[in-house]
Amino acid sequence: MAGKIIINIERCKGCGLCIMACPKSCIIVSEKSNKNGFFPAQADSTDCTGCGACAIICPEAIIEVFHNQCSKIETIAEPDKKPKLSLIKEKV
Ligand code: SF4
Ligand code: SF4
Repeated sequence: MAGKIIINIERCKGCGLCIMACPKSCIIVSEKSNKNGFFPAQADSTDCTGCGACAIICPEAIIEVFHNQCSKIETIAEPDKKPKLSLIKEKV
């Protein structure tokens, strides 16, 4: 496993965007609802590469991305902070 993610499931709205974005199919829908009644995304990080696509697309910014299982070397998106989208800026 090259990467790992942690999802704050209590804040998840169950939109499924992270599931669609993951190139390794590492995220599934939980069978158990959270306290707000949403069925949250659930990580199965077996094939996770730590690419960060799920964290970048999550509108709630509730996915943290880790590399090498335990060593957190990069956080793509931190809880309560929206990911930076500066690369999308266009030159006029
Ligand atoms: S970091 Fe990349 S490979 Fe890992 S769960 Fe997220 S989208 Fe999938
Ligand atoms: S993109 Fe974010 S809010 Fe949507 S299902 Fe994934 S973790 Fe939940």
